[in-house]
This record gives sequence, structure tokens and C-alpha cells, in this order.
Amino acid sequence: MEHKGEQIALGEVTVTRIKEFYGSVEMSPDEFFPDSPHSSWDEHRGWLAPDFWNPDTDRCQSAIQSWLLRSEGRTILVDTGVGNHKDRPYAPVWSRRDTSYLDNLAAAGVRPEDIDIVINTHLHIDHVGWNTRLDGRTWVPTFPNATYLMPRRDFEFWDPANGNESVLGRGNQNVFEDSVTPVHQAGLARLWEGSYRIDKNLRLELAAGHTPGSSVLVLESGGDRALFVGDLVHTALQIAEPDTNSCFCEDPAEARATRHKLLGQAAETNALVFPAHFPGQGAAEVERDGSKFAIKEWAAFSRIS
Ligand SMILES: [Zn+2]
Repeated sequence: MEHKGEQIALGEVTVTRIKEFYGSVEMSPDEFFPDSPHSSWDEHRGWLAPDFWNPDTDRCQSAIQSWLLRSEGRTILVDTGVGNHKDRPYAPVWSRRDTSYLDNLAAAGVRPEDIDIVINTHLHIDHVGWNTRLDGRTWVPTFPNATYLMPRRDFEFWDPANGNESVLGRGNQNVFEDSVTPVHQAGLARLWEGSYRIDKNLRLELAAGHTPGSSVLVLESGGDRALFVGDLVHTALQIAEPDTNSCFCEDPAEARATRHKLLGQAAETNALVFPAHFPGQGAAEVERDGSKFAIKEWAAFSRIS
């Protein structure tokens, strides 16, 4: 599916999908989502395979991608993937990569200097990578004219100087140093707390659980609504089984409660749900199904050619 991208209009805002990686993340469902019995995957196999799960290899399938928003004349990048050339000794699948992400951004008509705002929904390894790029031997901000919005609670949690323990162990090794600190030192980071209004269409809200500062971007424009939920929903099974956390959720109880709350909000307001990592059709409307949820309709992106 090589083309210039996929786009959807929501009120006055357009949302374009910028691909970094689609494929296996080299983890089985049992490893990635230890809460969910394998029978759940088998039960939902008909719609989880092949986009979210390859039953033949028993590996989860995932997308690393950014959502590019154009709103009120500004260009906004939601999450910045894994990045190139980064040394990730404890996450080899994301180490020293060389992807064509910036070319994919260019194909959507956007140069790095055109980005006005970068949103890191949280500060995990696969959400901050393209915050910086290598210039010689130095990590420099990839988007020199952008304000980078980062949740203060995550900034403080992941700062190695604060010595916090994480369920990731050393999985986020080097990430703060090479992808957060250079942006902060350049004066481009804005640390927000509670909620943050971006413009009349967009605001950020704290949605803690996956990480202490995990956030959701709320879009309300011209009667259309969307929730960019980051990793609160990592795979589509978590819509059908909203108690299922990933092994990367820092506070399991809070992650479950926040997932139920936001999926409920999405169902009640007909908001499209844009998780960070859905392959396939990328986003969906959801509806209540008892105390759980179901896919009501997948998002209808159109291709840019
Ligand atoms: Zn992620």
C-alpha cells in the first residue's frame, strides 16, 4: 500500500496518517497483553487477524505512525514514533533504525520546519523518537520551529535524575537523554499539567494510567469529534476487552479505569477513536456492548494521490 498517505476531514480539521512502520513487534499476545487469555484472541480472530495478530506466527501486528493535523492554519504532529539511528540496547526491535519517515512526511506536503506543534501523548520510546535527529554526533530537534507539548507528569517520571522505577525496567534506556532533553535544552518544550487548550478545535487532557502523564487529544469541530488516545488502546482487542492492559501500562488499575472512561465518552459522543498503533484502518467509532465495547464502524480515510 505505497501511496502518499491517508486523510480524513473532521469539521475544520484534517487528519493525515504518516507511516513509520507497519508489521510484527516480535511479541506474542501472551507477552504483550498478559491480562488476556489466549482464548480471547481466538474468539475475536475473525476481525483481529491479520491486521492486529498473525495467528500463524502468534505475533502481534502493530503500526508506528503519527497523526498529522491541520487546524486553524497550524500543522500539528501527534506522536513522533521511534526515530532513526537511536541506540536502544534493551529494545532491539527499535534500535538503530533507518526508516523513510521524513520522506513520508514530505509526501504529505510537510517539511520538518513546517511543523508548528509536536504533541507527545506520553514519553515512551515509540512516541518521542522523531523529536530529534542526528546532526553529526549531536541530537538536535527535528522540528526547529515547533513547540513540543509534553505532559509534565511524564517529563518528571521519565527523567533519569529522578530515579523512578518503571514496569519497562531499562526499556526506555537513552530515550529521555536523546529525544527529550535536547528539545528541552533548546527551549522548545512546553510542559503542561491537567489540561491544555491548543486552539478552538483541539485540547489535551490528562488520561493517566498507561504512564503517569499519558494524555488524550480531544478534537471537537463542526459537530465532528475525535479522541487521540495514545496507548490507552494499543490493539483492537482492548475495545472488546477493555480490562486488558498491555505489559507496558505503569498503573494497571488506573489504565483500566481510564480506558473504560474514554471509550465510554467516545461511544456517547460519536467520537472517532485514534489509537497510536492501529494498523489496518487506523481509527474507529465504538459503541457500548454491555460493560464492554465493540467496533461500530472503521474510519473512512481517503487516499491522497
Ligand atoms: Zn506506544
